[in-house]
Amino acid sequence: MKKFEIEYDVIVVGGGPAGCVAARFAAEGGAKTLLLEKDKEIGIPVRCGEAISKEGVEEFIVPNLKWIRAKINKFIFTSPDSTTVEMPLSEEAGYVLDRKIFDNELARLASEAGADVITKSYVDELILEDGIVKGVGIRYLGSKYYVKSKIVIAADGVESRAGRWAGLETACDFRDMESCVQVVATNVNIDQNALYFYLGEKTAPTGYLWIFPKGDNTANIGLGIGGKENKKKSAKRYLDEFLQKNFPNASILNFTVGGVPCCPTLKKIVAPGIMLVGDAARQVNPLSGGGIASGMIGGKLAGITSAKSIKKNDLNIIYEYEQLWRARLGNRHEIFNRLKEGIYNFTDDHFNSIARDFLNIKYEERNLYKLFMIALKNKPTLFVDIAKAFLRI
Ligand code: FAD
Repeated sequence: MKKFEIEYDVIVVGGGPAGCVAARFAAEGGAKTLLLEKDKEIGIPVRCGEAISKEGVEEFIVPNLKWIRAKINKFIFTSPDSTTVEMPLSEEAGYVLDRKIFDNELARLASEAGADVITKSYVDELILEDGIVKGVGIRYLGSKYYVKSKIVIAADGVESRAGRWAGLETACDFRDMESCVQVVATNVNIDQNALYFYLGEKTAPTGYLWIFPKGDNTANIGLGIGGKENKKKSAKRYLDEFLQKNFPNASILNFTVGGVPCCPTLKKIVAPGIMLVGDAARQVNPLSGGGIASGMIGGKLAGITSAKSIKKNDLNIIYEYEQLWRARLGNRHEIFNRLKEGIYNFTDDHFNSIARDFLNIKYEERNLYKLFMIALKNKPTLFVDIAKAFLRI
């Protein structure tokens, strides 16, 4: 059985996509790296709709049918008055993953790059010396261990505590914390190459409902609504009503709940000796709620920067990660957040009118740009949100 060594260059806390990728790139860059996951198996439990774009995958791993459940070539939107409109995408534009296997594969790549990967190891504190993070305390098989490191990468997900322990401000406004529920349902007869989205006050206020196919008449069916809405009527009730109405004969194979931080990235994602990545850093796309690809990008940037810092023996280099992230996605997420705020104010009439206008465009000519233009026509004040986003008013 693997035992902890006394000291590492980099310790990564959390074996989700962000952590696995961070560990891989840190190790590839020559840093002696340890990846710690509290659960007994990487990839379980799955709390995710598992949809991702092809390019989001390809930056990290060659697409493989071992962990692809569906290949996506269209979106299907349904507005509150049940107007349904399809939008073509390129062939294999995205995937619905099997995250159990996908996350395992990412961990395997980290191990192959030289990182030690240890599961069932729960990080319950940071070693702090004069305010600088110098390692972690771990609960492992009933015993307590302390392992030192020059850098800790916190990839401990939406409920992250490591950043807070290091003194970083990690709170996400409860209105931006989407409350999500999802079932894996079978006996669901849908197009296996389409991602379905349902919008509207009665279905998923300040959010959306999704159906993502997983092959064999099985699908992830879930929804996310803003924290404020969830207080009035729970996300679970919205989902139960939808399932009852639309899939009364479906069997539920799995039920999960979880939060998605649909806010911009934290202002500070680096503190002395520690970097935050993935959901822990709030690197989710605030508009779509997707965090697999963006978390992996954050993980990659942090992993590379940590290795550089070790190689040059200069721990201040880890601050470069913050700038790299903002340039790559962080600034764009600020804009998406503004757009989200504009779109969340759409009424059912807006959505109905957008769907009907979009139906008037020939199928093969429909795309996200045209959909967006129609949305602007229906709600010109969205322009103001965009302008504000660019001008940072
Ligand atoms: P996680 O995947 O949450 O991994 C964090 C890991 O850290 C976990 O394995 C956890 O066990 C471990 N950990 C936590 N604390 C400790 C500790 N103290 N010690 C050791 N280990 C610890 N995104 C998409 O892109 N597409 C989707 O379709 C999609 N659907 C979603 C549906 C739902 C219902 C939810 C809740 C989220 C969805 N997301 C989706 C978001 C996506 O799941 C996350 O953004 C993504 O998993 C973030 O990756 P991560 O590595 O940062 O965190």
